[in-house]
Amino acid sequence: MEILECKHLTKCDFYGCNNLAKYCFTTKGLIKRDLCFCEECLKGMYEQIAKLQIPKGTESPFRLNKKTRKVK
Ligand SMILES: [Zn+2]
Repeated sequence: MEILECKHLTKCDFYGCNNLAKYCFTTKGLIKRDLCFCEECLKGMYEQIAKLQIPKGTESPFRLNKKTRKVK
């Protein structure tokens, strides 16, 4: 399964979202059809996934954020 840029014009699949889909999640048949979603919904999903999958490595996004803040 992979997330690709959505090449055809279609609306975001998330209920209540009227944006155009920018990405699609394709599983090559594992789900009934590809899930298409916009950048906002991707962020929303990422936040939810991040809550479940807390990075344990030294290259976690949280540490990277701290580094970039110091640079600025
Ligand atoms: Zn959306």
